[in-house]
Amino acid sequence: MMQRPTQAPLDREAQKKAFESLKNTYKPPEQVVQVFPINPLKPEKPSEEIFLKSYKNILEERGLTHTQHKVEKSINENKTSTTIKQFYCVHIYSPVKASFMGLPIRYKICSKCGIVK
Ligand SMILES: [Zn+2]
Repeated sequence: MMQRPTQAPLDREAQKKAFESLKNTYKPPEQVVQVFPINPLKPEKPSEEIFLKSYKNILEERGLTHTQHKVEKSINENKTSTTIKQFYCVHIYSPVKASFMGLPIRYKICSKCGIVK
């Protein structure tokens, strides 16, 4: 058995309107336009050493000595590996400008291992 149509057939204009309204329902929500030129906040990843140290402090507070020692060990291992990396690195220094107590200072950082010259 054929089902009865639930609405009258649409003429050309009604079809267009129906199509437009359907199209609007599928639109993604409009982006909020920012009035001020705000720079996007870049979440900075803390260095692994800082992260591990804070993690160690948390463990220390909670008295988890076993895990704490493990973390301490990995901090020391990281230090050693950095030292080795810096020792064998073919340094590629890039100049960095900074100021210390109002005095401009220049130093160079290796872009491969991060050692400061
Ligand atoms: Zn280097």
